[in-house]
Amino acid sequence: MSADLHSVGKRSFYSNLMNIVDFYNLNNFNLDTLDENKISHYNNLMKQKYISYWENAVQHSNKLEFYNIFKNQYKTSHYLDHTSEQTERKALVKLRMDNHKPMIEIGRYEQIPHEQRICPVCMSTNLVDKIHFLFHCLKYSTLRGTFFNHIYLQLPNVWQTNITETIKILINSTNYLVNLPLIKFKSSCFVLHDRLISSNQNSSA
Ligand SMILES: [Zn+2]
Repeated sequence: MSADLHSVGKRSFYSNLMNIVDFYNLNNFNLDTLDENKISHYNNLMKQKYISYWENAVQHSNKLEFYNIFKNQYKTSHYLDHTSEQTERKALVKLRMDNHKPMIEIGRYEQIPHEQRICPVCMSTNLVDKIHFLFHCLKYSTLRGTFFNHIYLQLPNVWQTNITETIKILINSTNYLVNLPLIKFKSSCFVLHDRLISSNQNSSA
């Protein structure tokens, strides 16, 4: 019945299945001879293809350049197990991804080359958005100092010569006593960011 609908160009379970077969290029797929082994084989094939797609997307997307520093393997991130609070989980996900308010304003993203990006609160140029925010922006230096003094007790090896290694240690930490201050640091910076932007706007009005 479902195959009959598909054969006359109507959408059905069978046609959805055939779309998946085409999409993943599953050669020699035959519904009539499907067994446990073949299902497992096709499952693995689809998973591998999706992982290749994911790796390629992460490596080549300018938008995900920060994410690519600390996440280059397709697997569940342990940090998600360390907080049951929905708002904290969301805040951590946001920090790891690039949907990050000050960063959006800094760069308007991938269309703007690093050397043309300007931080709206300190007016520095030549930025890698989130790295500037986490490590360099002078306007957040007091908050950053408090944060790193606290973090250093939990992660004595956090400071590495290569800043990308420091980011990996910090962002991939599974220690709740690191995750939580990181969220608080980010939130405090947001509050300060908004205050600075609004006072800039008022003074230029
Ligand atoms: Zn700045």
